[in-house]
Amino acid sequence: MQEKIYTIPVNEAFEQSGDECPFCFLYKKLEKIELDAILGAAMMEPDIRIMTNKKGFCVNHYEKMFAYKNRLSLALMLESHIAELAKELKTGGFLSKDIGSKPAERIEKLEHSCYICEQIDEKFSKMVSTAVYLYEKEPEFLKMFNSKKVICLPHYKRLLRTANNSMGKKQYELFVKDTDKIISGYISQLSEDVSWFCKKFDYRYEKEPWNNSKDAVERAIKFLGGPSDID
Ligand SMILES: [Zn+2]
Ligand SMILES: [Zn+2]
Repeated sequence: MQEKIYTIPVNEAFEQSGDECPFCFLYKKLEKIELDAILGAAMMEPDIRIMTNKKGFCVNHYEKMFAYKNRLSLALMLESHIAELAKELKTGGFLSKDIGSKPAERIEKLEHSCYICEQIDEKFSKMVSTAVYLYEKEPEFLKMFNSKKVICLPHYKRLLRTANNSMGKKQYELFVKDTDKIISGYISQLSEDVSWFCKKFDYRYEKEPWNNSKDAVERAIKFLGGPSDID
């Protein structure tokens, strides 16, 4: 049962994420594992190379790999990815009717695929299911879940969809109520903090304290956008 496999990391994320979205916390852990793997031993494995050649990476993950120390691993991956693309992006004869449609389609596909995103997502979606399962079955987890201050919007959506697919009607209604309490509480605090942040730029408020608003913009971006490295 997949829920059992991920019980420990999901519990840990809820325990350790503090004031951060526990799912962003989980996502970033998974992302780090994938980045370490792809720029380490996995990079030379032929099966994985076939996939990275085909899927490529999103800009976010290109940038993260670029920031890692292992530039050679990245360059070797790029070398074979580009070589494969060079073949696939051939336009075909100039006399053919849809000249240019083949490379455009290939690029379109490339824009929507990322080896790392897909690797993370496979595990991440099981972890979201695990959280929903634990919410239903484990009173201790339920308590911890309801004590969370924030779940970011992308992960809120995901949770709602996952719960809707797996829970009974009554349980789902309770779940919606509980998550809504977290989200609406956070939104009202966040709007207050963002407004106060804006006010602080007005000379009349110059001498007032910052209260909780110093990092309001960072928190708003994380809440709206999901996993982020902004600190
Ligand atoms: Zn999140
Ligand atoms: Zn990606």
